[in-house]
Amino acid sequence: MFTSVNPATGKPAASYPKLTDAEVGQCVARASATYADWRLSPHTERSDLLRRIADRFEAETDRLAALATAEMGKTLKSARAEVAKCVAGFRYYAQAGPGMLAPVRLKAAGGVAEARWHPIGPVLAVMPWNFPYWQVVRFLAPTIMAGNVGLLKHASLTQGCALAIEEMVREAGAPEGVFQNLAIRAGGVAALIADDRVAAVTLTGSEEAGATVAEQAGRALKKVVLELGGSDPFIVMPSADLDAAAKAAVTARIQNAGQSCICGKRMIVHGQVYDAFAERFVAGMRAVKVGDPVDEANDMGPLSSVEQRDAVLEQLERFKAAGATLVGGERLPGEGAYMTAGVLTDVPIESEVAKEELFGPVAMLFRAADADEAIHIANDVPFGLGSSVWTNDEAERERFARDIEAGMVAVNQVLASTPEAPFGGVKRSGHGRELGAQGLHEFMNLKTVMLP
Ligand code: NAP
Repeated sequence: MFTSVNPATGKPAASYPKLTDAEVGQCVARASATYADWRLSPHTERSDLLRRIADRFEAETDRLAALATAEMGKTLKSARAEVAKCVAGFRYYAQAGPGMLAPVRLKAAGGVAEARWHPIGPVLAVMPWNFPYWQVVRFLAPTIMAGNVGLLKHASLTQGCALAIEEMVREAGAPEGVFQNLAIRAGGVAALIADDRVAAVTLTGSEEAGATVAEQAGRALKKVVLELGGSDPFIVMPSADLDAAAKAAVTARIQNAGQSCICGKRMIVHGQVYDAFAERFVAGMRAVKVGDPVDEANDMGPLSSVEQRDAVLEQLERFKAAGATLVGGERLPGEGAYMTAGVLTDVPIESEVAKEELFGPVAMLFRAADADEAIHIANDVPFGLGSSVWTNDEAERERFARDIEAGMVAVNQVLASTPEAPFGGVKRSGHGRELGAQGLHEFMNLKTVMLP
């Protein structure tokens, strides 16, 4: 059984049965059989299904949001926003997807070559708990539009959300086997990747899980998309609106209690405005209201589990041991997985801990002499997922956009994923892209048909 524990109370919330190996085998057989038909479905049928799934999500917003809050502690208002984003994601692919599947005709030596998009088969998704619906929808909406079918191995923490997604898809009238939730542990993933009926795998999660799954996919010669960790820089230059930047930096760092791959995690501030920014930012972080995630007055709920909170606290001890100074970032008493928001200064950039992802509501604050040093600090980590740069100087914007080693750069805004734009990273943040046309095409066969 999987038992979900409400991180706000420390009390068990619900239990979900694990699938047996035989049941997993039946699911894979069903996926394979459904794919044989679904690959031939007209694009209009796929769009209609996506629209109906969007409608189901929208109608069930309150129930879905409450379930996510109870399973992993995000504030109810952010859980509602997450469900709304899922609705937008399904509708985006319903509307824009068919155009992305249009064949491209090219002149070739022997006549005409037509590049056509074909589905490839059942795609396995291994997903994390931090955005328990949106992470899945990022894979599921393009999977359906492509004519593929989906198998989900969701995080152990969010098995209720996984079942709810399956329910929404079923109630929307999807053919059985278009999307199935596999309630299995991580150990069951290897056999699925090795199974000839599974065409490809996508994983969002830690570096460790990504490396394991990529190795297994490599052995089976299967396509893999990896969306892994990040330690995103948030750069503030003298021309920026400091009030807006400091406010956004707080929002970026505490969203989802700091447990987002694209949270701004390292605030890198030009020396000329460092003190003024630091004063505003530290005051903003200290003012963050932590408490019951259901209460709309709170900015931040608990972390996803006591284990996750304690792992962050242990990491903060290592920062202090390396010479950093910590303000806030303290455990709150009680059964819940609560801690306060915090800021680390004097972090030695060459220390091992400074290179790690900090998956909790505590920011690192660095001073940079100029744009060159800001870029150097930004790139001095193994990750390259997102970034946010605050400057009103056009040349500086272009410089950051060109030289920051990241899959995404947001100018004068908090970086957020959006259905229309490709999402993904470089370096140890993974490879491949989700969302946009690129996300749809990742798991498709671009077949060249030579015509006379
Ligand atoms: P995680 O431990 O890697 O878990 C993610 C998923 O992988 C879960 O379903 C997990 O199953 C499974 N898993 C773990 N080890 C595995 C293995 N050896 N083989 C196969 N599957 C395995 O990550 P997490 O702690 O839940 O999530 C936080 C991490 O995800 C952070 O590093 C964060 O930055 C990253 N993330 C990245 C993105 C992005 O888009 N780039 C988005 C969100 C999060 P169990 O739960 O059963 O262990």
